[in-house]
Amino acid sequence: MRENGIAMKRIAALLAALLCLSGCSGSGNVCSTDFFAMDTFMSIAVCGEGAGDSEAAQELATELEQRVNVLEPALSRTREDSDLYRLNHAEGAVCTVAEDTYAAIADAVEYAKLTGGAFDPTMAALTDLWGINTEDARVPSQNEIEQALSGVGYENIELLGDGRVRLLNGAQLDLGGIGKGFATDEVKAAWEQRDRSGTWSVLARLGGNVGAFGENPDRDGGNWVVGIADPDNSADYLATVAVKDLSVVTSGDYERYFEQDGKRYHHIFDPATGYPAESGLRSVTVIDESSTRADALTTALFVMGLEEGMMFCAENQIAAVFITADRQVYTTQQVGELCTFSFLGEEKGYTYAQ
Ligand code: ADP
Ligand code: MG
Repeated sequence: MRENGIAMKRIAALLAALLCLSGCSGSGNVCSTDFFAMDTFMSIAVCGEGAGDSEAAQELATELEQRVNVLEPALSRTREDSDLYRLNHAEGAVCTVAEDTYAAIADAVEYAKLTGGAFDPTMAALTDLWGINTEDARVPSQNEIEQALSGVGYENIELLGDGRVRLLNGAQLDLGGIGKGFATDEVKAAWEQRDRSGTWSVLARLGGNVGAFGENPDRDGGNWVVGIADPDNSADYLATVAVKDLSVVTSGDYERYFEQDGKRYHHIFDPATGYPAESGLRSVTVIDESSTRADALTTALFVMGLEEGMMFCAENQIAAVFITADRQVYTTQQVGELCTFSFLGEEKGYTYAQ
């Protein structure tokens, strides 16, 4: 018996199309734009006194959405007209890519090094092979996995400066593990550049990546409350964090997966085995100033698992929340320093192990 989320995805895409038709909408102190990009729902809210009726707030929201829409082809590897597609099919030749693409690849290499390759952007062949979230999703043979793994390794990426990149040993890039984080940081940069007078705040939700920038006008202290999803019901929360000028990023096994013979195969792969990481975790959330870093780290920490992940966070001072398959919630020391964490999972059978 196999299930996957394809039907859901179609409905989601349809809904998104309807939402796009409605464009930017607002009332009171919020003007928001909802759209579908990078294979997920996104919403960018511009907040502040009178934002709902403000043309300037509406312009800003549209501009921020456009920044994401411009990034989509720059970070895509499936669009045949994209730089990544060209690079992945260049058979080892040097390619010149756009500035955004180069910057994202450079970030990906940095975080691959930092995490000892638990995050690795050269996983494209594996992602294709498993086809999670496509109609071709299946469990590949060991032979196929070994072949796909032969090109995996961030040391196969040569960054030559001036936008020039070369991929060695058949490596192919997949920036799916940091794309939304990179886009969230770019939304922040575009907001900072445009809104110099600091009139508006921004709450950007790019799938599981949330960026909360500026003061929340509706709360004392100006914090934004961001939920950490219940892996069994992602419309509900197991915890919240109150943050300001930070990104909150979650990666889990519950959004993109298929099931076969009672086993779940999800979209976060262990580069050491070529299989979906079986680390005993359901999700990892990272709270960080850099959304790109947080995005790379949630993927990497999910691969590392609780014990290694907690150690990694202590060494690198990372604020992270781990939710385990045996219904425990752990937070690192930095969580308390960076934000206010509230545990809500008791009624759902979870324990806050701290
Ligand atoms: P989401 O796409 O839900 O935000 P992640 O940020 O965890 O989740 O990224 C998962 C995506 O990253 C996968 O769909 C795949 O494209 C890619 N990926 C999977 N495993 C790894 C890994 N170990 N390192 C880097 N990228 C990965
Ligand atoms: Mg990620």
